[in-house]
Amino acid sequence: MSLLFKHFPQLIALAERGQLRQLFSRSSHAFGFSASRAHYISSRVKLLALLFAVLTPLWIPVDYFLLGGDQFQLMAVVRLLFSMSLLLLAVVTETGIQLFQARRRLVCLMLLPAVFHLLTQPILADSTQSDLLVCYSFLPFLIIVMHCIFPLTLMEGVGLATFTIALLSLGKLFQGTLFSFRGLADLWLMILIMGVAVWAQLSQLHMKLRLFNEATTDPLTGLLNRRTLMKQLNYVQKQSLRSGRPVALMMMDLDHFKQVNDRYGHQSGDRVLELFADILRQQVRSSDYVARFGGEEFLVVLPDATQDAALQLAERILANCRSLTVTLADRREIRFSVSIGAGQLSGELAVEASLSQVDAALYQAKSQGRDRVVLAGFE
Ligand code: GH3
Ligand code: MG
Ligand code: MG
Repeated sequence: MSLLFKHFPQLIALAERGQLRQLFSRSSHAFGFSASRAHYISSRVKLLALLFAVLTPLWIPVDYFLLGGDQFQLMAVVRLLFSMSLLLLAVVTETGIQLFQARRRLVCLMLLPAVFHLLTQPILADSTQSDLLVCYSFLPFLIIVMHCIFPLTLMEGVGLATFTIALLSLGKLFQGTLFSFRGLADLWLMILIMGVAVWAQLSQLHMKLRLFNEATTDPLTGLLNRRTLMKQLNYVQKQSLRSGRPVALMMMDLDHFKQVNDRYGHQSGDRVLELFADILRQQVRSSDYVARFGGEEFLVVLPDATQDAALQLAERILANCRSLTVTLADRREIRFSVSIGAGQLSGELAVEASLSQVDAALYQAKSQGRDRVVLAGFE
C-alpha cells in the first residue's frame, strides 16, 4: 500500500480528504449526494433505454436481407420484444427515486441487452453471413462500454461488471466454447474494456463528489453550509412529524470574536473557527448535522434528541472551549468561549420560526454574560 501511495501521491490527497473511502463504497456518502446520484443514474438509464428501444427495430430490414425466412421472423420477434422491454424501462417513472431503485434500473439496462445477446446466439448459429455475425458479435462490447457513463463506486462498478460479464459468457459456457482460444480471448478483452469502464465510472464519481462537496460545505471549516442545512432541516422536520420523535436545535455564536480578529489577526481568527468546528465534530453523533450558519455562527441539528440531551451536549461544548488554548506561531495564546441557544424543532411551526426561538435564546445567553447555554422558552 505504501508503495502505491509513493508512486501515486494523488491517492494520499484523496485518502486525506476521506474520498478514497467514498470512491470505494457508498456507505459514507451524504444523503443528499445519494439522492442526486440516484436521479442522475435513473435519468441516464431512461435515456439509453429509449435510444436502444428506438434503434433496435431499425436493424430489422438488415436482418431481412441477410437472414433466412424462419431465422428472420424469430429475430424480428426477439428484437420487438427487446425493444418493448426497453421502452417499458424508459417510460416507467417512480416518484422520489431512491438509490436502490436507480441501481435496480441500471441492472435491468445491462440485463436486457445481455439476454437479447443470449437469445440471438442460437438464431444466428446456422447463419453463413459472416458480415452479420461480426455485427452481432460487437453487442457484448457495446454493453460493456455502456457501463462507462454511470458514476458508480468501485464496489458497485465491479459488482455490476461481474454480473454483466458472467451473463454475457453464459451462451459460450453452454456451447462449451468459453474455454476455447477464441472464447478466452473475448473474455480477456471484455475484462480489459470493463476495467477501463470502471475507471471511467470512478472518475465521474470523483468529479461529482468534488462538485457536491464544494456546493454543500463551507470551505474553511468543512462543515455543512447554511443552504444545505436548511434543506436538511426541512427533511428532518418531515421525518420527525412522521415518526413523532423529537429534534433538538442549537444555535451558537463565538463570543467577542471581533476582538480575536482585531488582536491576533484574521488568520488566527480563522484558526479558532477551524478548531471550534473540530470540537463540534468530535462532540456530535454521526447522525447529527453541523453547519457554519454565518461568519462565527454555527447551527447543530440533533435528530432523535430531547432538549435535555441538547443541554448536556451544549455543556460539553462549553467545557471544551473553556479548556482549549490556541497557541500561535509567536507563542501568544488565544482563549475563547461560545454562547449557545438550545431548543426544539417544532412540528407545527415553520422551520424558520423554530430557528427564531433558538436565536432568541442565544441572544439571551449573550445578554446574560456569554459563555453559557440558554434554553428557548426559558429566556
Ligand atoms: P458577540 O460576543 O456579541 O457575538 O461579539 P462578536 O465580536 O463575536 O460579534 P460581532 O458580530 O461584532 O463580530 C463578528 C466578527 O466575526 C466580525 C467578523 O470580522 C468576524 N468574522 C466573520 N466571519 C469570519 C471569518 O470567516 N474569519 C474570521 N477570522 N473572522 C470572521
Ligand atoms: Mg455573530
Ligand atoms: Mg460573536
